[in-house]
Amino acid sequence: MAVSELTRIEAPAQFDLDRCVHCGLCLNSCPTYRELHLEMDSPRGRIYQMVKVAAGELEIGPSYLEHIGLCLACRACETACPSGVQYGRLIEAARAQIEGATKRPFWARLAREMVFDHLLTSRTLLKLAGFGLLFYERTGFQALLRSSGLLKLMGPIGNLERLTPQAEWPFFFDKIGKTFPAHGERRHRVAFLAGCVANIACSRLNEATVRVLQKNGCEVVVPGEQGCCGALHLHSGLREQARRLARTNIDAFLQGGFDAIITNTAGCGSTIKEYHELLQGDPEYSERARRFSRLVKDVNEFLGEIELNPAMGRVPVTVTYQDSCHLAHGQRVRVAPRTLLRAIPGLEFREMPLSDLCCGSAGVYNVVEHDMAMAVLQKKMQSVNSTGAEVIATANPGCIIQLKAGVALHGKGQRVVHVVELLDEAYRNAGQLSQPGLDT
Ligand code: SF4
Ligand code: SF4
Repeated sequence: MAVSELTRIEAPAQFDLDRCVHCGLCLNSCPTYRELHLEMDSPRGRIYQMVKVAAGELEIGPSYLEHIGLCLACRACETACPSGVQYGRLIEAARAQIEGATKRPFWARLAREMVFDHLLTSRTLLKLAGFGLLFYERTGFQALLRSSGLLKLMGPIGNLERLTPQAEWPFFFDKIGKTFPAHGERRHRVAFLAGCVANIACSRLNEATVRVLQKNGCEVVVPGEQGCCGALHLHSGLREQARRLARTNIDAFLQGGFDAIITNTAGCGSTIKEYHELLQGDPEYSERARRFSRLVKDVNEFLGEIELNPAMGRVPVTVTYQDSCHLAHGQRVRVAPRTLLRAIPGLEFREMPLSDLCCGSAGVYNVVEHDMAMAVLQKKMQSVNSTGAEVIATANPGCIIQLKAGVALHGKGQRVVHVVELLDEAYRNAGQLSQPGLDT
């Protein structure tokens, strides 16, 4: 299909494409190139294909879709690039262009519409899905299906099942709209982005995040009008939907006069830090988006910048750290999580080789590009196992789910946690937070 005028509206900008000098210094940092050794599955090769599409010399056809689809959007190439190529911006725009230029089969369109337009954006539907998941897990149906071998015959649906997170009851939804006081003197007033699926699958992580912030002098507000950040929409080329969600969150968070907007999810953080780029050209929201984005902090980044409350108990475990791509490459936050881990008494930190190489999670990538995601994961687990650490810490729920699958397939029984969960454990071990749970 030739590129129409319409699809040029959302397409990689020529300015961004021109920055690539085709030096190839990014190749070795690219997980798909490391697996396949194919130029067309390297950052340089993908940019070359985007250039050809922009020049009208390559059609948006099956080959282009395959190579762009196989990109993890991990942005490791952005870190490696000496020319400052903004690869994250390029891949998002390329996917939006594909979305406008191609027509998916009816069932694929229906499924995408259900997930992106309805499920992720509706608290009611997310709750219903959460209850469905709980029912599936607790009635023994999940155990039966997993032991029957049927999943292997179900193709992508079987993969989806294996990577589906556990539902965590009670869900975090009932904390939305509430304010949690600082423990001791209030030094900061922050807003917390609770996420979408995280309210079901990461309820304990969200609670731990709020508790750790409280322990560090923060009054934590969870604004009631917030919603999905739009990261999954953006990575899937649905920029208009992402813009709508961005406007909702800007309205929900900006009016509170907060010192910071905190997220515990690297993928969400890198998206909401870039709302100003997404809403560039929107006369009503561009300036507000800029103010919003300036306030956003990953929880690791925030805790790394303030004076950390040292009143922690011992957590005597060996821990290695997996850099979440959207924290390390998307937000350039690498030191803070390591500093926080090293601050925990009794904890022994062990650096893993290639810690900032993607684990293969990448949003919904591990479902739609399952084989590549699993190949990447296998390599990751070799790095993890080489450290001999008992715990893998990371900074993104998607990475946690993927690494748990990695431990089940190739690991040595490691526990997989978010950095703030270890901090929370340390504060609780000091006897300062005797019970899990939140007080308002
Ligand atoms: S993206 Fe950067 S590192 Fe990679 S080929 Fe282009 S200029 Fe070189
Ligand atoms: S974003 Fe990741 S997978 Fe995609 S080209 Fe860059 S390094 Fe490779």
